[in-house]
Amino acid sequence: MITLTGKGVSNGIAVGRLVFFERASFVVEKKAISDTAGEIQRFYAAKYTASEQLDELANTMTEKIGKENALLFEIHRMMLDDSDYLDPILKMIETQRVCAEYAVHECGKRLAQDFAEMDDGYMRERAADVDDVSKRIIAVLAGTQQTITAEDDPVILASNDFSPSETAQFDRTKVLALVAQQGAANSHTAIFARTMGIPAIIGLGVSLAPGLGGKQVALDGEAGVLYVEPDPDILEGLEKKREQILQEQQELEQYRGKPTITKSGQRIKLFANIGSVTDVEAVLASDAEGIGLFRSEFLYLGREDYPSEDIQYESYRKVVEDMKGKQVIIRTLDIGADKQVDYFHLPTEENPALGMRAIRICLTRPQLFATQLRAIYRASAYGNTAIMFPMISDLAELRRAKHIAGQVRDELTAEKIPFNPETPIGIMIETPASAVISDLLAQESDFFSIGTNDLTQYTLAVDRQNESIREFCDTHHEAIVRLIRMTVENAHKAGIWVGICGMLGADPALTQTFVAMGMDELSVEPSYILSLRRRIAAI
Ligand code: PEP
Ligand code: MG
Repeated sequence: MITLTGKGVSNGIAVGRLVFFERASFVVEKKAISDTAGEIQRFYAAKYTASEQLDELANTMTEKIGKENALLFEIHRMMLDDSDYLDPILKMIETQRVCAEYAVHECGKRLAQDFAEMDDGYMRERAADVDDVSKRIIAVLAGTQQTITAEDDPVILASNDFSPSETAQFDRTKVLALVAQQGAANSHTAIFARTMGIPAIIGLGVSLAPGLGGKQVALDGEAGVLYVEPDPDILEGLEKKREQILQEQQELEQYRGKPTITKSGQRIKLFANIGSVTDVEAVLASDAEGIGLFRSEFLYLGREDYPSEDIQYESYRKVVEDMKGKQVIIRTLDIGADKQVDYFHLPTEENPALGMRAIRICLTRPQLFATQLRAIYRASAYGNTAIMFPMISDLAELRRAKHIAGQVRDELTAEKIPFNPETPIGIMIETPASAVISDLLAQESDFFSIGTNDLTQYTLAVDRQNESIREFCDTHHEAIVRLIRMTVENAHKAGIWVGICGMLGADPALTQTFVAMGMDELSVEPSYILSLRRRIAAI
């Protein structure tokens, strides 16, 4: 048995076969990098591994498919050292400061295109080889080995890292759990795994040896431990833990259907966060009183092109209808930073978290923003909908965003398309600036929802993606608590409600503090709803 420890970011026990995740569709994200020399080294290391793999294939496949056919792997290996293939990749990493995966993907695509356009039939066929070689290097860079697409049984998926878009697209009936070498607890990948109820361990620190693929593993998503070929007593212990979790869930059932209220009668709205239409099922099962944060980005992630107004409208409408009159707060697009989408062609930035993201993209691309707002407003005719803008840091931004919303309402009215003109418009408080001027913002907002994940990142200057500085990220830091308190007081002075939709909202150590501040709403991942209701009932 091998025992590996990482950070448990999504609770639950899973036992099954370990399978390395292969990015079947090769959606390669464009990530900005600052250390170009390091990235080039990373590329060379991947090239070396790919070369070794091809050598081995050339040897082993000779017996199976004959020397002539196995020669293909030899050709692939030679291509890895061809300057026509290598030079553009190295140049792109150096000059455009992009990650190696992206450079390989882009340059490989261009070279394959050149081959595909040649007159000579033999040369045209080489396009597929270039493509194959690029995919191999990208797979090595990303730490992937096999595909799950052909798997019938549910498996435990392993990878170097999972992007938020990949995680959001996993079929939870096929994926028992996730385990990644990298990652941070506050990342969207971790958030999505929790929301989807998939146990997950990230930040293992070591890459899993390819030889572990196919082995039986057991995973404790709370403790953050992965057991490879677990001993019987470990399996027994995990089974007991699973039973305890089930027992705990049964005990929590007494809080189902009950109001969320303290002993002294203070009511709190207990809402859930979702990242896709399919998460509504978990929300309904969790007994949440509404949806306090619908991360609408999922509609944009993992696609080749922008989702149309109708595609968005159908999704929003489905969520709003399924929630049957309970409030659904749809956050407008929050793309950028760790959520990169190729077709947005976002600039490569030194500090994407401080760059073109969220409302900044929407304000600089008003047509894109208007399309989303039209879809949300159209859905508002079918239920209790609210709109929420992310990353607001200035009154002028709020006004510009509201102005575009006003134009959208005018258009819909002129087109006689039904919508709810009273749809509340709130903002997320996730920058220190917005908390500090929350008295001003409250005058022009219908509600506030505090995004503590980003508020923490920006207040403490700790990159939420960077696990190595975790010790410097005190989530209970007095500065955060003060900013939250200030926001609550300013909201109440202006007569609007205020909630928390960041992870801190689910932190039982702070529930009493939030209740004492007069927090009106807490929006958490569905799995926390009943335990949080019990926690509040004890106050
Ligand atoms: C937050 O920042 O706290 C938040 C809820 O938004 P996200 O995690 O999607 O950035
Ligand atoms: Mg945020």
